[in-house]
Amino acid sequence: MTEHHKIVIVLSMKESEKREKPYYALDYYLREQFGGKVYKVALNAGMSCPNRDGTIGYGGCIFCSAGGSGDFAGDVHRTITDQIAQGIEGTKKFKAERYIAYFQAFTNTYAPIERLEAVYKEAIVHEQIAALSIATRPDCISEEVIALLTELNTQKPVWVELGLQTIHEQTAQYIRRGYGLDCFAQTVQRLSRAGLTVIVHVILGLPGESREDMLETISYLNHCPIQGIKLQLLHVLQGTDLAAEYEAHAFEVLEFEEYIQLVCDCIGYLRSDIVVHRITGDGPKDLLIAPLWSTAKRKVMNAIHHQLRVRSITQGCFLTEAEGGMKNVGADGFI
Ligand code: SF4
Repeated sequence: MTEHHKIVIVLSMKESEKREKPYYALDYYLREQFGGKVYKVALNAGMSCPNRDGTIGYGGCIFCSAGGSGDFAGDVHRTITDQIAQGIEGTKKFKAERYIAYFQAFTNTYAPIERLEAVYKEAIVHEQIAALSIATRPDCISEEVIALLTELNTQKPVWVELGLQTIHEQTAQYIRRGYGLDCFAQTVQRLSRAGLTVIVHVILGLPGESREDMLETISYLNHCPIQGIKLQLLHVLQGTDLAAEYEAHAFEVLEFEEYIQLVCDCIGYLRSDIVVHRITGDGPKDLLIAPLWSTAKRKVMNAIHHQLRVRSITQGCFLTEAEGGMKNVGADGFI
């Protein structure tokens, strides 16, 4: 066997592995990057959010629960090291060797730089931590923060997760996001120039948004230097202002079938090199008011995968190659 043949076989194995799911799934990306099973441990570093402490606003984003989107994160009263140990213990059955330290609750760059440095470094030196993932807002990323993250990125990969949710100004105001699209665009450019991995959160099913509006958000992101996306179903959680709106019948949540078709459309219109970190909602069941069908996560995932096959959709298949679609997509939709 020649070297050329060996390379072709390795590539075909990778492609067929990727084709287990017709999109660039996070589990495939993690195997590519780290060569084995990697899980996330969700951490709570005890930070607040300028959209809740009065700096920008008091109510927070309209959908945000009291836990600041970190309802699964660790116990804030414990050290980062303890939270990592607890997270590893909780996922022992999956037999992962390495973990991503996911700073999830509230805005994880919203603290003095010395404090940020201390918590990030506590996580990054842990021998089982393979990467850091930091959830934050684009208006809370100073040059000082970028310099710190850039330095850490030389030790282990650093991902920055930005909650954009939508590109549409009217919706952004309704959800009280508290920053404009220009701020997002500039921050993404700064993070990209620094060589940091950027993952963007998008919510599907926001009040007043049509299918076309949501696909416009995807199309906009295709033109941004981002490496990952989380597609999240809008969840109505107890105690949020969104719940009050929902109970007053101000809007309706997506139906199961509607969501399945929408996610398939988003994947078909998404640039093929963007890693898909999530395609469902992931809210806490005990706080969930609607849509209740989303608690059957396995059923939702299976329905999305089934529908992708039925419609022969692969990631980027509705785009031209120049727009970031996949090369050589066959009649059946697969490479
Ligand atoms: S930016 Fe995040 S933590 Fe802050 S209010 Fe919005 S969703 Fe909650």
